[in-house]
Amino acid sequence: MEYYSEKINKLIAELGMLPGIGTKSAQRLAFHILDMSDEQVERFTEAIKDAKKNVRHCRNCQCLTDRELCPICSNPSRNHKMIMVVESTRDLAAYEKIGKFNGVYHVLNGVISPMLGIGPADINLKELMQRLQQEDVEELVIATNSSVEGEATAMYISKLVKPAGIKVSRIASGIPVGGDLEYIDEVTLLRALDGRVEL
Ligand code: ZN
Repeated sequence: MEYYSEKINKLIAELGMLPGIGTKSAQRLAFHILDMSDEQVERFTEAIKDAKKNVRHCRNCQCLTDRELCPICSNPSRNHKMIMVVESTRDLAAYEKIGKFNGVYHVLNGVISPMLGIGPADINLKELMQRLQQEDVEELVIATNSSVEGEATAMYISKLVKPAGIKVSRIASGIPVGGDLEYIDEVTLLRALDGRVEL
């Protein structure tokens, strides 16, 4: 990288910090950006700043949105008695893409992981318990990933919620262990949802 001048190197270094971007890709992106018109660069940087400034967590389901209440939570035609618990807004999007789930969501924003020092208080569990107390919920579908942490989190939530008399189910296996929901095809995802088992 010593072939490039300081400002180019700085841009390459910043781009290289993005997930999945190695040095070669970072270089390609940097030169692409330098080829862009001033207006394009302005639009691009504005989009980043605008998203960073205005995106927040939905006050109900904790997903990332630019409104106080996300479009799913504020949609009266969704079944608000059925809550699917997911790890991230990206997992929520994966289920929304197949368009077969008519309930609402709760985004944990992580999973319990003693190895990484992430306990129950570090994910959005308190918010989930609050919703269960305030809303008339019939079923909780736990759709955390099938990693060790995802399974442990599912069991933890199940033990916490079942005494309240709410039906708790877990999406079916068939999703490879350690599989990231976001990368699983829609058919597998739909089968996992349809074949969910009560905990
Ligand atoms: Zn919401």
